[in-house]
Amino acid sequence: MHRPIYLDNHATTPVDERVLAAMLPYFGEHFGNPASINHVYGWEAEAAVKKSREILAEAINATPEEIVFTSGATEANNLAIKGVAEAYFQKGQHIITVATEHSAVLDPCQYLQTLGFEITILPVQKDGLIDLTDLEKAFRPDTILVSVMAANNEIGVLQPLAEIGAICREHDVIFHTDAAQAIGKIPLDVQAMQIDLMSLTAHKVYGPKGIGALYVRRRNPRVKLAPQQHGGGHERGMRSGTLYTPQIVGFGKAVEIALQTQATENQRLTQLRQRLWEILSQLEGVYLNGHPTQRLAGNLNISVEGVDGAALMLGLQPVMAVSSGSACSSATTAPSHVLTALGHSEQLAYASVRFGIGRFNTAEEIERVAEHTISTIQSLRKQKTLV
Ligand SMILES: *Cc1c(COP(=O)(O)O)cnc(C)c1O
Repeated sequence: MHRPIYLDNHATTPVDERVLAAMLPYFGEHFGNPASINHVYGWEAEAAVKKSREILAEAINATPEEIVFTSGATEANNLAIKGVAEAYFQKGQHIITVATEHSAVLDPCQYLQTLGFEITILPVQKDGLIDLTDLEKAFRPDTILVSVMAANNEIGVLQPLAEIGAICREHDVIFHTDAAQAIGKIPLDVQAMQIDLMSLTAHKVYGPKGIGALYVRRRNPRVKLAPQQHGGGHERGMRSGTLYTPQIVGFGKAVEIALQTQATENQRLTQLRQRLWEILSQLEGVYLNGHPTQRLAGNLNISVEGVDGAALMLGLQPVMAVSSGSACSSATTAPSHVLTALGHSEQLAYASVRFGIGRFNTAEEIERVAEHTISTIQSLRKQKTLV
């Protein structure tokens, strides 16, 4: 029995073996606490953490002091949003975000609403992009934060970060972006894009789960954050807790590899995605979700007319590991809030497939996936006309 072809690379990615190899010594011989300053065990661990911090900083054109390690992007988003809310509430209590954000952004915002903050949730256009004039109009004198994701985890859409950054700076409002799907996949530059806070995670870029980071701007302007976890004062007081050295080493290695291969890998993934779409789009009633080109290279998201969403997933399962909506919400039966935000009917939002093509997928796999998807849709439609 073959295991299904893994095409759920937006949910998580396998750890690259080079990443695992880099991590292993830090579970063994180099087990020290990076905060131990009096012996070699601590120094070794600290040196490894420092190296990863430098790699991450360089990847986004920040400085190492601006990287705060967290347990992942969920925690980074919570720290950014609640941390700003708590530090700036005297300046204002209004936050702007977008309907297609990950729940790790929307839920902290919703929580802040229960404390009295006001949240404006911007709609998206049919292609998943925000309308910048909507953003312009949403600012108020009491706006303290704008949170717009870099790359969407369901439809892969890339929001125009540099334009958003410029608008936020003009209004003197802090700009946070959730770049969990973007790090290592698209160029990110916190200076050129005028980003003040950026959430990152390792496990979407062939690194380990359980490690992420928040970039926190230190100059022009210096962003204040109220810590959400208190303790030993690690990470300059913004996130206490002993640093998880092996995961941090893996994070650095994963990003280093991704950046070395970013341009060529994006070309390869774009070709695979275009091939998949070329075949699937031959069927009638199959729609592309999200912008045709302004999207992650490995993302294809489709909605299918005239089939039941659950039956479609069941039919695809033996051959491929894909999901409908995001992994985080696929346990629920509600249609994806992202596809609903595109203006889809409930049927089209339900009957959707997210193909997340990644580093280890081959052209042969894509052919097999395309073929099986076509035959599954055809047989479901046929069954329907029989009953
Ligand atoms: C996966 C993901 C998250 C959550 O990241 P974790 O590291 O798993 O906590 C947040 N935002 C986006 C856009 C994601 O894709």
